[in-house]
Amino acid sequence: MELKKYHRRETVTVSIGGVPMGSSHPIRIQSMANTPASEVEAGIAQCKRIIAAGADYVRFTVPSVSDVAHLAAIHENLRREGYNTPLIADVHFNADIALKVAECVEKVRINPGNFASGTDGFRNRLLALTRICQSRGVALRIGVNHGSLAARIMDMYGDTPAGMAESAMEYLRVCHGAGFNQVVVSMKASNVGVMVAATRLVARMMDAEGMHFPLHLGVTEAGEGEDGRIKSAAGIGALLNEGLGDTIRVSLTEDPEQEIPVARKLLQFTASAFTGPQAPSSVTAEAYSKRVTREVGIIGGNHPPVVFGADDLSGADFNLVTLTLPEISEYVIRDLQEDRLAVLGYRCTCANVQAELKWLRYWLEEANCNVPVIIQLHLHEETEEDFQVSAAVALGGTLIDGFGNGLWLTNSYPLSEKVIFSAAFGILQACRARITRNDYISCPSCGRTNFDLIATTARIKAATAHLKGLKIGIMGCIVNGPGEMADADYGYVGAGKGKITLYKGREVVKRGIAEARAVDELIALIREGGDWKEPDGKNLPLN
Ligand code: SF4
Repeated sequence: MELKKYHRRETVTVSIGGVPMGSSHPIRIQSMANTPASEVEAGIAQCKRIIAAGADYVRFTVPSVSDVAHLAAIHENLRREGYNTPLIADVHFNADIALKVAECVEKVRINPGNFASGTDGFRNRLLALTRICQSRGVALRIGVNHGSLAARIMDMYGDTPAGMAESAMEYLRVCHGAGFNQVVVSMKASNVGVMVAATRLVARMMDAEGMHFPLHLGVTEAGEGEDGRIKSAAGIGALLNEGLGDTIRVSLTEDPEQEIPVARKLLQFTASAFTGPQAPSSVTAEAYSKRVTREVGIIGGNHPPVVFGADDLSGADFNLVTLTLPEISEYVIRDLQEDRLAVLGYRCTCANVQAELKWLRYWLEEANCNVPVIIQLHLHEETEEDFQVSAAVALGGTLIDGFGNGLWLTNSYPLSEKVIFSAAFGILQACRARITRNDYISCPSCGRTNFDLIATTARIKAATAHLKGLKIGIMGCIVNGPGEMADADYGYVGAGKGKITLYKGREVVKRGIAEARAVDELIALIREGGDWKEPDGKNLPLN
């Protein structure tokens, strides 16, 4: 089979102020302000910091009709001072806000899960919005969130990638039918695999129906620090490597301007793939399908992927055969199949690592070869963050699709084993290939947040880092938080000034707790739920 060159999905150009998106325009970077919606001065100051960091667009939440005037004031002040970066209004739950705010920004984001209820209801409101957008030259984002699908969609599809894609397509068909093509689409989820699958699916569905709208990529509630960087890089990198994506947002529970350098790195590491081959489409799955391999000691079979250097493999009896792409042939694959102790140590050498690994999978599956594969990746990164982002961009798409029985990561520059192993475990965790730590689903905060989400997330992480495999949601507001952390085991959600509501699963168990004691109450809830154990100092280096 011929190796096809990297090819970016063709889209229309969407004009967003003076910064067009899609088609052959550069992949745009954006972030979102998290100042309270009514604090105009604070919003202006933060917007300037985000712009100074290099954002192409800045988004603001508009939680109420009265906040339209606040965003209009921010917009006006920035323009008066010579800042021309396009502003985007983020609207949930009230179509009237979208209709009003479209008069004063360059782009409006709506969520089909909560824009307007009923099939006719949403059509009429959406048509009204497209008319305003068309007359004012304003762009629209149909931004689907995994955690807030409409009841109608949930009844038909559940909270699946298919449900997310159909949720967007309903809205896109209305826009397309009305001749309005200044539309951007996003499929966001905190589960990286769901976000990737839904985006691949909606791209395919749009192309099949002749709609070539650009894609906005992002992993919601990705968290902070290493976890946030790795989750975003794995998900966004997987799609960019396949030629999907026209704008990205790295969503971190940190100051919004800190998202921009991470997004830049992500684009930089992905750009190196653009010169390499494209993966064969037959192994770019829309649903996770773990490759079936034989068991060799604790490698392959039903064992989770191993991390070379960190896992104890001393008692395992296997024959590691290290090969690169040019060394793979029909005969070599046959030998790997016949040697029952063989484990393929595949050393990545191509610019597009994701594509070469997908080709490897394709060739092994064509030859019915079930040899386990350890992915060896050697990087040349100078900083911890570069290493995390670069490795996650390279490996995310492959692991999300269920390929790889182990990782062997190394680096030219001296990074500690702790950093390298932690990145390896973090990537496996982000791709849900192996769970070794907790999953913190924390939102980036926005104008709806009434508590210090960054400090609270750090406190909760410090108190629970010794536990394993728990999903803990830490969300800024009760409006969107519970939906966004849908599959969390425990949830800590802002419920108005100084008040927190705690969840166990999807159920509210403690309401309106004073913020000062809410973290202790969360720990008490985890104890009551039988998920607590006392710290014993083990495993902490990798947590
Ligand atoms: S969950 Fe967080 S980011 Fe989302 S709307 Fe609420 S406060 Fe804003």
